[in-house]
Amino acid sequence: MMVKGLSRSVNCPAPGTRGISLVSLTGRLPEGNVPKVVAERASRSKPKLGQHFLADGTAARRIVDALGNISQSTLLEIGPGRGVLTSLLTRSARRLIAIELDRVLAAQLRMKFALYPNVEIIEGDVLAVDFATLFGPKPGSSRPGLIQTPEPVRVVGNLPYYITSDILLRLFTFHQCFDTLVIMVQKEVADRLAANPGTRDYGLLSATAQLYARVETLFTLPPGAFTPPPKVHSSVVRLTMSPRIDSLHVPEEAFINFLKLSFGQKRKTLWNNLKTEYAPDSLRAALQEAGVKPAERAEALPLEKKAAIFRALASNNGNLPQSGK
Ligand code: SAM
Repeated sequence: MMVKGLSRSVNCPAPGTRGISLVSLTGRLPEGNVPKVVAERASRSKPKLGQHFLADGTAARRIVDALGNISQSTLLEIGPGRGVLTSLLTRSARRLIAIELDRVLAAQLRMKFALYPNVEIIEGDVLAVDFATLFGPKPGSSRPGLIQTPEPVRVVGNLPYYITSDILLRLFTFHQCFDTLVIMVQKEVADRLAANPGTRDYGLLSATAQLYARVETLFTLPPGAFTPPPKVHSSVVRLTMSPRIDSLHVPEEAFINFLKLSFGQKRKTLWNNLKTEYAPDSLRAALQEAGVKPAERAEALPLEKKAAIFRALASNNGNLPQSGK
């Protein structure tokens, strides 16, 4: 994976340097030995990278405010783009790490925030970053007997919509690293994240998100709030991490595989989706034990019921799904 900038150490901002950058002093990006493509003020947007830049200053402020008091927090910004959120975050966050895939934008951001010691711009793919390494204890910082608990990180971003689900699943995989996510997503995705069981929008993404977090939809923006405008409306959601793995008494990875299997084919019943992995007798017994009719669909059941079926299957012959199809 190409991740540039990881080695730069980041400290708390030195007194008196907050809020000052070359750009805010001069209104221009630095000139001189800077390649033209990097020094250019606004590079053309790349639709393939989901580049729809937020052009509504009030919305940007509301996103940052939704993170709460960040003066003592480490923030991870996903896809900072031209830096509309980054500029606000640098003024109030103790430490900000921003990951941008577009190398021109990443270079421009590095120059723009060069004088902010609390900001680190990483050029890389957010889907390839190992957050445990990025946020965990640094080599040489541990001593026998010293227990280090990494501080929880808050995540913010107007996400590139073409990989929203992949980003969320990756963040959930590293859920121990994070405490709050405030993210802009396509409205339909926000509806799915927040949907209740038994409603049209409830599916695997809802169940997985709600396994890890409390989900709130904060506000919705029209396409005109972005440059260039996307074809869809967008919503800002806040996910407050509150994993339920322990209270459901299920092993994390095997239960995620079980959820994938249960939702396997959308219009199929739970029975038809689960029978691809479980013998009819143990499946019948487990559904009965959990008080679920075989003709139910996964979309109708709350997580507690799915966990009950899973536990019943696991206790009959240690039956765990292996594939996670
Ligand atoms: N935050 C900026 C804003 O609100 O104006 C830009 C948001 S734009 C919707 C998404 C950003 O994510 C773009 O800058 C894009 O280049 C970046 N991006 C796309 N794929 C990425 C990836 N795999 N990893 C990191 N950043 C990515």
